[in-house]
Amino acid sequence: MFVYADNAATTSISKTALDAMLPYLTENYGNPSSLYAFGQKAAEALAEARQTIAACINAEPREITFTSGGSEADNQALLSAAKLGERKGKKHIISTAFEHHAVLHCLARLEKEGFSVTLLDPHEDGVIRLEDVEKALREDTCLVSIMFANNEIGTVQPIAEIGALCRSRGIPFHTDAVQAAGHMPIDVKAMQIDMLSLSGHKFHAPKGVGVLFARKGLLLTNLIEGGGQERGKRAGTENVAGIVAMAAALKESCANMEKDNARIIPMRDKLFTELSKIPHSKINGSLEHHVPGTVNMCFEGIEGESLLLMLDDRGICASSGSACTSGSLDPSHVLLSIGLPHEVAHGSLRLSIGEYNTMEEIDYIIETVPQVVSYLRSMSPVWDELEKGLRPHLI
Ligand SMILES: *Cc1c(COP(=O)(O)O)cnc(C)c1O
Repeated sequence: MFVYADNAATTSISKTALDAMLPYLTENYGNPSSLYAFGQKAAEALAEARQTIAACINAEPREITFTSGGSEADNQALLSAAKLGERKGKKHIISTAFEHHAVLHCLARLEKEGFSVTLLDPHEDGVIRLEDVEKALREDTCLVSIMFANNEIGTVQPIAEIGALCRSRGIPFHTDAVQAAGHMPIDVKAMQIDMLSLSGHKFHAPKGVGVLFARKGLLLTNLIEGGGQERGKRAGTENVAGIVAMAAALKESCANMEKDNARIIPMRDKLFTELSKIPHSKINGSLEHHVPGTVNMCFEGIEGESLLLMLDDRGICASSGSACTSGSLDPSHVLLSIGLPHEVAHGSLRLSIGEYNTMEEIDYIIETVPQVVSYLRSMSPVWDELEKGLRPHLI
């Protein structure tokens, strides 16, 4: 059996998105900046996509800037707010220790440029507390950037509350909503969000296309110099087909959200319930504040990397954390941020399921993971010491 359970890393393109984009790769290949009618067809498709995406998050079409993905949107949001802050002599940024590297590495760059950055730790449940954000606010805070849902442990943050706090203090609030889009309702007005990042390939559009929402009046800095596309905020001929696909995919995901989640949540919960029966295992992240499809667990005495390789042999695609950290031997910064010891964080497994998974696949995972964990433990010197009482169990 082949089971794709890594939807937080990327998703397959939906038929709706593929059908929507194909004409813009074939007959309608015009440049949307051209004046003739043929190019205008592409321009109209862009305008329609902008409207569709804006409607999905309750924004205005002109508040939508198309980017090459979530990473670019995050970078542009952070650098724009930093530039605006710098002009007013405000150089303090609040974010969290468990952001995606697109945010964390961009903040590290800003730190080198003289910004001071406060990274809040989530609590053990993987949720940031409003009080912690409030306490960290300073006179010179120019940006608060807190992710909507974490990509490794799937926990959802109190976005509307943080939005209200930031709005009341006049501080721009950005959220990386890449893991939430298409899976949870997003309303930038009700949640008082000033900037928000999306990535198409996390909700069944192709890779290489994303969105930065910026509330009107908030001046974006362009990362790329060139032509005047995207109201001068993002130079370069637009990825018309990708953008059309992204709009179709987001519209479809939002329209089917309730129906899809009614299937996905029971599958996720079955994974949690059944895999928790493995002795010395632990669920990471609050179950109460959680995206529908993500399961993250630790199994004591094994290496996450070995677990992934053995699952791969059995046809299961999973991850031990973010796609960017698998392959490196450092434990996940997300798991460390919720207070897990290194030894425990090393034995992590992320399964992220989506619209296209079936209960049969879930049952196959439930049958396979305990077998693999037992096998790896039988070969693990660490497990041997734990069993002999030579070192204490941590979970
Ligand atoms: C995948 C992801 C990104 C990066 O998006 P790309 O389109 O791959 O650049 C950023 N943030 C989060 C939370 C993600 O899951």
